[in-house]
Amino acid sequence: MKAHKNYIDGKWVSSSSGQAFESLNPATESVIGKFQKSNKEDVKKAVAAADKAFHNWRDTPAPARAKYLWKIKDLLIENKEKLARLEVQEMGKVITEARGDVQEAIDIFEYMAGEGRRLFGHTTKSELRDKFAMSVRNPVGVVGLITPWNFPIAIPAWKLAPALICGNTIVFKPSSDTPLCAVELIKIIEKAGVPRGVVNLVTGSGNDVGAEIVENPKIYGVSFTGSKETGENILKSAGVKKVGLELGGKNVIIVMDDANLELAVSGVVWGAFGTTGQRCTATSRVVVHKKVKKKFESMLLNRVKKLKLGPGETSDIGPLINKSAVEKSARYSEIGKAEGAKLLCGGKPVKINGRGYFFQPTIFTDCKPDMKICREEIFGPILAIIETKNFDEAVKIANGVEYGLSSSIYTENMNFAFRAINELETGLTYINSSTIGSEVHLPFGGVKGTGNGAREAGILGIEEFSEIKTVYFDYSGKLQKAQIDNE
Ligand code: NAP
Repeated sequence: MKAHKNYIDGKWVSSSSGQAFESLNPATESVIGKFQKSNKEDVKKAVAAADKAFHNWRDTPAPARAKYLWKIKDLLIENKEKLARLEVQEMGKVITEARGDVQEAIDIFEYMAGEGRRLFGHTTKSELRDKFAMSVRNPVGVVGLITPWNFPIAIPAWKLAPALICGNTIVFKPSSDTPLCAVELIKIIEKAGVPRGVVNLVTGSGNDVGAEIVENPKIYGVSFTGSKETGENILKSAGVKKVGLELGGKNVIIVMDDANLELAVSGVVWGAFGTTGQRCTATSRVVVHKKVKKKFESMLLNRVKKLKLGPGETSDIGPLINKSAVEKSARYSEIGKAEGAKLLCGGKPVKINGRGYFFQPTIFTDCKPDMKICREEIFGPILAIIETKNFDEAVKIANGVEYGLSSSIYTENMNFAFRAINELETGLTYINSSTIGSEVHLPFGGVKGTGNGAREAGILGIEEFSEIKTVYFDYSGKLQKAQIDNE
């Protein structure tokens, strides 16, 4: 099997390491491709190419840059089914969700292409006569994009599209669990005619490729999505680079006693077991009012028992990404039992036809907020149910974790709904809807341990990839001193 190559300076090239690594299908454990096991030298070459391409790309008018994004969007539409099926193979997502992932990429390229005719700065009045004041938006420079595997097309697209429209050039390192999706995405960018050197792909490990991206002095911005642990390390070594971090979550759904329980159960099943619990916004805790807890649990259990586990082409729940993810879910299931939580269903790894990284959908109840399974991100199909006596206590439990990405409340009470919007400490709050399901024209990101204030998508998505320059234009023909001549 020939190894797929890196894409540097408009050419597909081998790593100077001469080594390759494999990407596996998590449902069958079979090898689906080999990829360059790149090293720091390869990143340096990619940075040099991006640096060389920068001035020309920066000076290409933004509406002209946008034409490439429109083209990429069209090619993504043309290749949607092919990419979705590839994602099922490499990441294990069920096919309907994989199509959704590609659609998200289509949407963000469309949205950011429109930005090509905006990229607004501000104008305002100067405090002095015959002086004009404004701010304009410039690119950051060469930026590094480091992405996880759980949205292998959408997350790279969420970074590539705003980075390109703002005029940056790019070194992109995808997760080593999903390099084939990245290669196919870059082929589309190549086919769209994006000039050489503007987008460069380097595959390989976080410790080699990722670390060099973070430390390379010619990279001025790093956009990272992944775990809190890696994000914290990146922040420590990035120095004064502009760094955007989108990290983990321990997301919660509150179910009040007046909730539409059918709707709440649907939202919990989708939030907890969609993408096999491997979304940063996945529902991992339910805080349910004691008056409806029994009924809610029995309805939930009925629904979960009907979910079909198997390869993504034919099932409701696909595999976990790899062996260590299965081990992690198994470990947390044991921790849950040892902590005294009651196992309602699941808790075990499964093989289908003797293969694959499957794990049963798992529900613990009678959990206490300070249990590990209620505080730590598991990133698997494991849900913890916690009982509450009222709204105030539910909010306190919901906020009692280090993360702050997504939250939701099911209630018919408008006052509770508005209080939840105000009081839940998360970047996203849903009312009568699950914790997952972002739309690209709204900002996405978390508070507390989930990030460092950056937002992706929506109009705020361009902040991460642009710098503001303030401009003063004095046409008075004399020296005017701000704060002094305007007394
Ligand atoms: P991860 O282990 O932190 O890896 C993410 C990326 O960082 C991978 O490309 C990885 O490379 C790279 N990396 C690892 N060590 C690095 C280092 N020292 N320097 C630079 N890069 C390094 O996370 P993951 O397991 O892929 O993804 C799951 C996590 O992502 C979860 O915590 C989830 O909540 C989070 N996530 C957050 C969001 C959000 O928007 N908030 C969205 C999706 C996922 P290799 O793996 O190839 O070595």
